[in-house]
Amino acid sequence: MKDLAFASISELAEALKQKKISVSELITFFSERFSTQDGSVKSALEIFSVESIEKGLEKATQVSVLSGIPGLIKDNICQQGRITSCASKMLEQYRASYDATVIERLKAVGAPLIGRANMDEFAMGSSTETSAFFKTANPWDVSRVPGGSSGGSAACVAAGLVPWSLGSDTGGSVRQPASFCNLVGVKPTYGLVSRYGLIAYASSLDQIGVLTRNVYDSALVLSEIVGHDARDATSLRVKKIDYTQYLNGKLPAGLKIGIVTNAFQAEGIEDDVRKILDDVVAVYEKSGATIKRLSLPAMDYGAAVYFMVSRAEAASNLARFDGIRYGYRDTQAQTLSDVYIHDRSKGFGAEVKRRILIGNYALSSGHAEAYYQSAKTVQALMREQFLQTFKEVDLLLMPTTPSGAFKFGAFDNDRLKMDLQDYFNASANLTGIPALSVPAGFTAESMPIGFQLMGPDLSEGLLLQAAYAYEQQTQWHTMRPNGF
Ligand code: GLN
Repeated sequence: MKDLAFASISELAEALKQKKISVSELITFFSERFSTQDGSVKSALEIFSVESIEKGLEKATQVSVLSGIPGLIKDNICQQGRITSCASKMLEQYRASYDATVIERLKAVGAPLIGRANMDEFAMGSSTETSAFFKTANPWDVSRVPGGSSGGSAACVAAGLVPWSLGSDTGGSVRQPASFCNLVGVKPTYGLVSRYGLIAYASSLDQIGVLTRNVYDSALVLSEIVGHDARDATSLRVKKIDYTQYLNGKLPAGLKIGIVTNAFQAEGIEDDVRKILDDVVAVYEKSGATIKRLSLPAMDYGAAVYFMVSRAEAASNLARFDGIRYGYRDTQAQTLSDVYIHDRSKGFGAEVKRRILIGNYALSSGHAEAYYQSAKTVQALMREQFLQTFKEVDLLLMPTTPSGAFKFGAFDNDRLKMDLQDYFNASANLTGIPALSVPAGFTAESMPIGFQLMGPDLSEGLLLQAAYAYEQQTQWHTMRPNGF
């Protein structure tokens, strides 16, 4: 095979089948890619030893296209016996005692899980700059961020260090880095993928998602991890689906795509992004879709409602990290109250502490009505409006991000502007619907940009079909960053 590093999952699977390469050789090859190429990007917190990766394959009971194809896992998804740090000092030493359901399913088909991907601390951020350990760079320009919070998961796939990775998406954390790194990133319908073993940030919004370099690979990986799981009370009663069956390169006849006009008036959308989106619309029109421009005011509330709901849930979820049951322990503390204070003030980074404070305030008596309850009311209205809109159109098309990847530190003095990064993404999490980001072109600064499709509950098949049809008409997904 001429280029293993950037080969697709199907190509690698074919090479394994024809015995051109062995699983062991593939594991060694990709592990070595990390040693030689990850220095400038720093996408991985850890790459495991080849022996221990191979040991993980002993749990395999079935064969699939993913058998033998290495991937990297965001460090908030538990892999038994491995550290699961959430890129936080708080969990720096925490070893998972069990496998997340997604990990169990991937191990069952013998997918080698070769390491842990860097991320924003506890998945809170849009740049991977809040990791307690180090920052990850964007392979397309190492002076820029890869996006976040699944920045490590995106950077490694974009740099050809591994063909697929898992991330998590609470308010855009799979789709935004996908857009910044020229990848396909899918955020499934809430409940389609089990959250058992995913360390919670905001439980009612969290979903595990997939990052790959093309749509077919995305469908392959997603098909392995979906399906009901009795250990997650919010898991939907759906059977395992093979999403590749939808990828015929065409759009379904009569497909109606909605363009949310008010979203295009949002603050801070760069002209390049508008122009690229116009081109995407033209491709869909040419492929036979009917484009309908509509107004969806619910979009405009996404970032604000997300801000409240995510902080409130984060404050509750992170209360358990007190250094007693879990987490960092300051051995110098003299009293019980010092234990709590020291452990939490030293164990958590600034962004996490800020969110816990805001969340507790939003939930406190006297304020909960005004903040948390109002946010939940608007959230319910948002879902109503989205469902109504899906009676008129099959899918919604919009940008994933208002701009291309930004420079490190660009938003250090403007947190609000950073939070507005979530404008296009948060509404899918708040309404529970699926969404994906697909490579769509490059900005004037030569940074990749994706477009986003959203669909009604459990429309992953249609989303992937429409994304694949676009991909077949364009070359963006074949572009590679220099130097990798
Ligand atoms: N950027 C968003 C935030 O900082 C999204 C995070 C996520 O999806 N985990 O909250």
